[in-house]
Amino acid sequence: MNLKVNKDKCIGCGFCVGTCSEVFDFDDDNQAKVIENPVSEENEEKAIEAKDGCPVGAIEEE
Ligand code: SF4
Repeated sequence: MNLKVNKDKCIGCGFCVGTCSEVFDFDDDNQAKVIENPVSEENEEKAIEAKDGCPVGAIEEE
């Protein structure tokens, strides 16, 4: 699974980073970025939880 953060939507709330810091981190612009692509099997469940919980639907599968 490959994920990306849509920068046009991300509001920098930090939910994804807090939920799965193995896959998400903050960028210099205080928006989230994906730091593990493809997402490892080990982190997949938490990454999906972060994706589904993003309040603005900014995390997209590609
Ligand atoms: S949960 Fe969504 S809006 Fe919040 S930082 Fe992550 S990508 Fe951005």
